[in-house]
Amino acid sequence: MSVQATAGPHSPPPPPPPDDFTSLVSHAKKHGINLVVPGPEAPLVAGICSYFQAVGIRCFGPSRAAARMEGSKAHAKEFMQRHGIPTASFRNLADYDEARRYLDGVGHRVVIKADGLAAGKGVVIPQAKDEAQKALKAIMLDRQFGTAGDEVVIEEFLEGEELSVLTFSDGYTIKSLPPAQDHKRIFDGDTGPNTGGMGCYAPTKVASMELMAEINRTILQPTIDCMRREGTPFVGLLFTGLMITPSGPKVIEYNVRFGDPEIQTLLPLLSKDTDLARVMLACTEHWLDGVELKVEPKFSATVVASAEGYPGAYVKHRPMRFDPVPKDTYIFHAGTELDKNKKLVTVGGRVIAATATAATLEEAVAKAYRGIKTVHFEGMHYRTDIAHRALKATTI
Ligand code: ATP
Repeated sequence: MSVQATAGPHSPPPPPPPDDFTSLVSHAKKHGINLVVPGPEAPLVAGICSYFQAVGIRCFGPSRAAARMEGSKAHAKEFMQRHGIPTASFRNLADYDEARRYLDGVGHRVVIKADGLAAGKGVVIPQAKDEAQKALKAIMLDRQFGTAGDEVVIEEFLEGEELSVLTFSDGYTIKSLPPAQDHKRIFDGDTGPNTGGMGCYAPTKVASMELMAEINRTILQPTIDCMRREGTPFVGLLFTGLMITPSGPKVIEYNVRFGDPEIQTLLPLLSKDTDLARVMLACTEHWLDGVELKVEPKFSATVVASAEGYPGAYVKHRPMRFDPVPKDTYIFHAGTELDKNKKLVTVGGRVIAATATAATLEEAVAKAYRGIKTVHFEGMHYRTDIAHRALKATTI
């Protein structure tokens, strides 16, 4: 995640690739870097933090063992079951025939999840039994997601509003950012296939003060305490995806890192006197209780622009053009790159996002839309109804 960048003649050489941990450590040593913040999930799940810690460089992120909360959905579900943390009822199944029989007999609507990392695509929400069986076969037999589908979680479909809570932790203390609501589907009206997230807004009224207190008491603090007691303390940012069901909040998933677009929405809400680097440092050195995480009493909204074809196979290398960005608006690059002529082109599925803050949600949303309209590329798609439920439900 970076703010709009241009490469000048004196740009520093690019850092080594994110999976070459030994070269990354040499790079950090050479440049005197003393706090490292891994972004994507794969290096965290592969244990990147221990490489830096071994040479005395602080790394804001969980250990390999703690990162399994995202790396293995089956592991996360068993953890929640062991500790009575509310989540959808489920079965973990590593044998295809057994999974097939279980699906046949199950009496409620299900969600099927590949156990391992699948770049946000390993979750299927079938409408009917035959669709569920097809998805199961694609994951377990045809290995659509490779070894990530060696085991599956088949869980109860939950009804309710979704909520994302991003929580800093030093292994003991937790400090959460305001609750955010993401928009997973590609098209307006929450239709079409799931994506990594097409937009987001915060804070959301779905989470009252009382509900947040309940989430802290029944989910977030027990997660951090039980991980520590099991010998895998969580240091870093725990992203908890929740469903607010009629019987209370339940965990849908844990991520072990800043997730987007939530973090793009939330960081601009931090008060000017809260230093993010200090918060992250406090997590790595276990003094988070001494830090105040102050947020401004305003709203933030993010609109994501995706490439033609996304979330299926998408078109790459489309030239991009930018107009000047309005005040209090941020343009975050996710899937862009400089081509050989040093011109920005698209390379990812979700290409770019515009975030804006304002005193009201309506204003923040309108500004975020003005922001995304400053970006141009062929085939660009974005939803036009970010925050629609909140805007309809209230007169914020
Ligand atoms: P991502 O990496 O994009 O956050 P993921 O692949 O790790 O996603 P989940 O977050 O577990 O997968 O699920 C993706 C989406 O599927 C959720 O945001 C939610 O909309 C839906 N979903 C997952 N589990 C359930 C459930 N039990 N009931 C209803 N919907 C669900």
